[in-house]
Amino acid sequence: MNTANKSEQSALGDAAYEQLCLYIDGEFIAGGGRKEQDVVNPANGRVIGKLPHASKEDLDRALQSAQKAFESWKKSSPLERSRILRKVAELTRERSKDIGRNITLDMGKPLAEAIGEVVSCSEHCEWHAEECRRIYGRVIPPRLPNVRQMVLREPIGVCAAFTPWNFPYNQAIRKIAAAIGAGCTIIIKGPEDAPSAVVAIARMFHDAGLPPGVLNVVWGVPAEISDYLIRSPIVQKVSFTGSVPVGKQLAALAGAHMKRVTMELGGHSPVIVFDDAEVERAADMLVAFKFRNAGQVCVSPTRFYIQQQAYDRFVARFIEKTKAVKVGDGLAADTKMGPLAHLRRMPAMLKFVEDATARGGRIEIGGEALGGEGNFFAPTVLTNVPDDSMVMTSEPFGPIAPCVPFKDLDEVLGRANALPYGLSSYAFTTNTKNALAVQNGLQAGMVNINHFGQALAETPFGGIKESGIGSEGGFETFDGYLNTKFVTQMD
Ligand code: NAD
Repeated sequence: MNTANKSEQSALGDAAYEQLCLYIDGEFIAGGGRKEQDVVNPANGRVIGKLPHASKEDLDRALQSAQKAFESWKKSSPLERSRILRKVAELTRERSKDIGRNITLDMGKPLAEAIGEVVSCSEHCEWHAEECRRIYGRVIPPRLPNVRQMVLREPIGVCAAFTPWNFPYNQAIRKIAAAIGAGCTIIIKGPEDAPSAVVAIARMFHDAGLPPGVLNVVWGVPAEISDYLIRSPIVQKVSFTGSVPVGKQLAALAGAHMKRVTMELGGHSPVIVFDDAEVERAADMLVAFKFRNAGQVCVSPTRFYIQQQAYDRFVARFIEKTKAVKVGDGLAADTKMGPLAHLRRMPAMLKFVEDATARGGRIEIGGEALGGEGNFFAPTVLTNVPDDSMVMTSEPFGPIAPCVPFKDLDEVLGRANALPYGLSSYAFTTNTKNALAVQNGLQAGMVNINHFGQALAETPFGGIKESGIGSEGGFETFDGYLNTKFVTQMD
């Protein structure tokens, strides 16, 4: 792998980062003696901003304003909701360069990836703008001629959402657009480590004319904020994207208060490359996809099962292409992989590598921190790793690709399905029987065959097993934000 030129990086600087704030009842709020948290650029460790934490009074105000706003927002015309979402889509495109740059500064991903994330989110706004006009009920044929039976779909109420740092814009806008499009109001706590995107989203909804209280943004200690909001009787729905252990905690708390949940949790996505695949093409595509966002992606390919005859060719090509992945500051034009988003992810990566080598695994490339300032970890390929090693059983959430051989279809499906995760999965084959067998046999919310085609606005995104509950995107997107009401009337 290559490392981008340091002087080129530092010349770019951290100037003009987002003005961080809370957004409550239509007001942008900072200062006022609130506790503040440093926001750090992971490429160089420099403090780039101060994030105000919400006080208990701020949280109460957010709850009250969301509750009050719900009384009118639930009656708003879908045309009006659609207009606001379309306006935000337009503003998203206009502001994408600045927003993307701030994401690179606080989260680390390469600038092109960050801008790409923002621009693609304008499509999420447009999709929700279109679909919210089609939230239909239905009429059920009655048993008596003087009865009319109807199913109505009504917004649930005030939602509390908690979103992570790896796609700070995407993860937040999906929840916000779904809640607002459905006629709900929402309080969101974004990622404190990478907060600029959520503040930028609030500014766009504000500028698009969203009424005060429909969207509120708060920050703080994640466990304290989620505990306070989920317990509040005002909150009717909880949506979280993050790790499985935290998702289980929040779902348990929501369950104790019988609140609806959407959970988008971690995965450990198997990749199956069959002997009959276009092996070099698969390796090239997988290197680009694996090291995107430094592997900090819930649907990242993380367990590479290669059929025996294709194994050597695949691994050789995968290593060759991995060597060419240029690591550096995300603002440098030629960077293909940025730093890990936090210092805490560095020892986490080393633990995976150490455990693998202790069990006989071989480091083909990488396996170490790159040294110097910033959280740079080398793109890593491991081979000869046993199935019970940490990297094959726990989500690595980083730039590590373990490659292992397999013999036949039944064996590989068994190994792929052996974990409690069920988010995404990938297969490469030119044989339609194999393609059909993986479609039917893989226990996953998403199956990608010969390409990566998930996470589009018009397609449902979500996991099964411990990877989550519910879907975001597709026409399923509003299901988690609506109640079903049955009405029957006799004249
Ligand atoms: P973490 O589990 O501490 O935090 C993950 C995310 O959840 C963060 O955004 C954090 O702010 C939030 N969070 C943590 N505790 C919370 C709570 N009690 N209430 C509300 N929000 C809470 O881990 P981390 O070191 O930040 O990230 C690494 C792990 O997180 C990875 O191993 C990965 O599994 C998971 N993760 C998953 C996704 C995803 O898209 N599914 C995104 C980011 C992180």
